[in-house]
Amino acid sequence: MAPKLTPHQVLRKRILSVLASAASGSLGATEAKNRVNDIYGHLWTAGDKESFPSRPAETKWWSRLGTEHARMSEDELLEKHTGEDVWTLSPQGWAAASALTLDGYDRQQELERRQEMWQALLNNGGPTNVERGLLNTLGIFEGQPGFCVPAMTRTPATPDGVAVSFLNTGKHYDDEVTPTGAIYHYPKTARKGRHDESEVNAAKAAFALGLPVFFITTGSPQSTRTVHRGYIEDMDDTQKVLLITFTDGELPPPPTKEELEAAFQLTDDETPETYSLRKNRPNQVRFAFDVYKRYGSECAVCGLAVTGLVQAAHLVPKKDGGSDDARNGLPLCANHHLAFDRKYWCVDTDLNLHAKADGPALDDLAIIRADLSHLLRLPHDDALAKVWTDWMAKQPGTA
Ligand SMILES: [Zn+2]
Repeated sequence: MAPKLTPHQVLRKRILSVLASAASGSLGATEAKNRVNDIYGHLWTAGDKESFPSRPAETKWWSRLGTEHARMSEDELLEKHTGEDVWTLSPQGWAAASALTLDGYDRQQELERRQEMWQALLNNGGPTNVERGLLNTLGIFEGQPGFCVPAMTRTPATPDGVAVSFLNTGKHYDDEVTPTGAIYHYPKTARKGRHDESEVNAAKAAFALGLPVFFITTGSPQSTRTVHRGYIEDMDDTQKVLLITFTDGELPPPPTKEELEAAFQLTDDETPETYSLRKNRPNQVRFAFDVYKRYGSECAVCGLAVTGLVQAAHLVPKKDGGSDDARNGLPLCANHHLAFDRKYWCVDTDLNLHAKADGPALDDLAIIRADLSHLLRLPHDDALAKVWTDWMAKQPGTA
């Protein structure tokens, strides 16, 4: 049996998408075929790469793109030219090109487009310290203040588009942008209308589709940009932040229905434990994201809610085997985090707060809560038990 060839209907889709992305929907025949190969070349089958006996000098995909062009002209998707060999979309061709995405969302096509963008960035000396203009040329960045949502990603299935990149505006705190991932704040601008909401929806679409996204930071020198490729691992509508995990290799599968619901509803008492593949990669900011998502971002003992002054504290410290599970954490302001780590105060298994016997009282520590019962969700019993036992062991008068 002869090796499989890419079906003609697929070749047609690829020609339509290449022409639709060209100026005025028009390309020379050679250029059009080369562009199809640039973008989709990694998808050619072994059969596509062979030659027809009648045309030994060219590959089958090259010959068959020519054949498909003739059929598309017959079907009036392309203008019929006399003389020069130029492929141009007809009005019907334009309609067919935009209909490519009408029937639900063509995730595969967008995935390939983004892989192509990343490869082009690497081929041009990226991803670190590249000229800003290159990011524009490649479509990774469009000069937007926050999220980049190209018009071409808007479809009936994704009316607000699908976010491609996130620009680190410099307003982020250092501990929110790390080599392994970043916490990104939803845009909050003075712009009128539903612009911000629409950008958040575009980020949600990228999250739900499990598409790669680009996180852009300032390079060195400062006029340049560094691009991280990653995926949106989680979103928190209450805190208005999203968690991006960087990856240089494989993407995890798109999030499950449970993950999406957990991200968008936030009313379930327990987050589903189905995150393993998406949470496999290291991400230094994941613990903080998870803690704020679980408990909110006010200090659990004084209520301070100033962004940048509240931290995700471990109950059982990492050095004592404490995990990065949010149920081993609490949001604490910098003062109360330090006071907790220095054992000035602790929480017992009934959630009551206690000050060290031979130290300042809770009042003197500016702790206004008597217990943690106000929290909507609580730390894990095992974490509370261990932290309380360890703390009690260090109190005067105990063994
Ligand atoms: Zn505090």
